[in-house]
Amino acid sequence: MTNNFLRIGIMGGTFDPIHFGHLVTAEAVRDQFNLDKVIFVPSGNPPHKVKRNITDKHIRYLMTILATVTNPYFEVSAIEIDREGYTYTIDTLKEFKKIYGENTQIFFITGADAILEILTWKNAEELLQMCNFVAATRPGYAGDSISEKIGYIKKVYNKDIFQVTVPSLAISSTDIRNRVYEGRPIKYLLPESVERYIEKAGLYKRR
Ligand code: ATP
Repeated sequence: MTNNFLRIGIMGGTFDPIHFGHLVTAEAVRDQFNLDKVIFVPSGNPPHKVKRNITDKHIRYLMTILATVTNPYFEVSAIEIDREGYTYTIDTLKEFKKIYGENTQIFFITGADAILEILTWKNAEELLQMCNFVAATRPGYAGDSISEKIGYIKKVYNKDIFQVTVPSLAISSTDIRNRVYEGRPIKYLLPESVERYIEKAGLYKRR
């Protein structure tokens, strides 16, 4: 028997800035899992990335909107931007369940690097039971260590993590920020609208 519950993809990230690696991953997972939509959730104050100065959350939110407007299946949520203090995925997912209903199927989309760290996230066990996790391939992160981690999660938490292959783009926000800082091109790594915005706002430039 089939059901008509919504199938929603959640793509969390710092998006500092958003790039084609994020976008192609979200679109590939949407297609492969037949999702009704993918909601991008830019982080507020992410506890895992306190080591560097992160661009203002409203600017990252704006860049995420600019990057996603051309895809009718993509939405951006300000849920973590609007929250004060540290933001945790567990709270965000509970909020989405409240908004869309308990029976909504949530697919949390992550790149390979993020799935390797998932057990360090707040309330990891509860998180694993609350939604489906999709681990997308990412250049530079070995498939073996990911399969090993997924096997461990299955054994200890009795939870399957979906592993998917997406078009490989060796793009990272860190590399884009470094390129701007060094005055090197970022063309074809991210949407032109975001590239223009970075230029106009003078983001990531050497001061
Ligand atoms: P930074 O370089 O600042 O750490 P990032 O490029 O890894 O940033 P995030 O915003 O931290 O980007 O990533 C959000 C999510 O997107 C994570 O789950 C990450 O694994 C995934 N992701 C980022 N870049 C890619 C890529 N090129 N291919 C597949 N997944 C990616």
